[in-house]
Amino acid sequence: MLIWEVCKYMDIKTCFLFRQVNRPARWIMSTYAPYHEVATHGLESLRAMLRTGLARYFTMTRLYRALCTEKCEVCDLRFGGFVFLLTATRCCFACLCTAPELRVMLLKDAKDHTRLGGVIHRRMAVLRCIQGSYGLRGSEVGRVQVVSAGALLNLAELDVEGRTRVENHRPRLLFRFAASTTLPLLDPMAVQGVVQHGLRCEGCRVSNQYPRRSSSNFYIDDRYVPLRPVYSRADYMAHFDTCTAARRLWRDITTGNNAPGD
Ligand SMILES: [Zn+2]
Ligand SMILES: [Zn+2]
Repeated sequence: MLIWEVCKYMDIKTCFLFRQVNRPARWIMSTYAPYHEVATHGLESLRAMLRTGLARYFTMTRLYRALCTEKCEVCDLRFGGFVFLLTATRCCFACLCTAPELRVMLLKDAKDHTRLGGVIHRRMAVLRCIQGSYGLRGSEVGRVQVVSAGALLNLAELDVEGRTRVENHRPRLLFRFAASTTLPLLDPMAVQGVVQHGLRCEGCRVSNQYPRRSSSNFYIDDRYVPLRPVYSRADYMAHFDTCTAARRLWRDITTGNNAPGD
């Protein structure tokens, strides 16, 4: 339908306002595939976009694209179980915690460091954090406004001095959590309604094969977080073929030597 072509260019907030106009408008939106799939499978992200003020910066198709993207768009290596809301980017937990392009800084600091307040307000997505506890220690974040430091560094108006100040700025890790949600993977080619949340290898866990402390691992709130691989179904089947511990565990379970979950 031609109206769906128009919907492609509506931001998320406009989609919601349009939906409230009358019954035909509600029907149009609920039969518009990106809206339907995001509202069904990505409700947490959709709600967060609406509650943080980001809904006017992104189209429904942008969030739908993230919903249907399997790999982390930052490292392009791992299963991405999260979405970084400030740029609607699918990401993995490791990149969410460590990738420089996913740094989040206070709007106030961004303005102070760059003196580009007007440009930031005109051209960048600004997120008003939902007050609550974030991180392993449950530290409190208030209704502060934040922006993506990565997007800030892409502004053509940013001078060398401002760039250096932004690059050297060390914002709180907590803001990254306040600017993200989990997001399952929807494979549009699969049976309707089937989503993936990522799989961890039980064989690797019981045989303690997760990587030891290394430079690729990281800390949150001064606590060490081991990097535990998360797989899509297809990637896990490939891993299963090479994981002796997983195959041994599967053999024990299917022959009755061990109970699932032991
Ligand atoms: Zn990643
Ligand atoms: Zn394994």
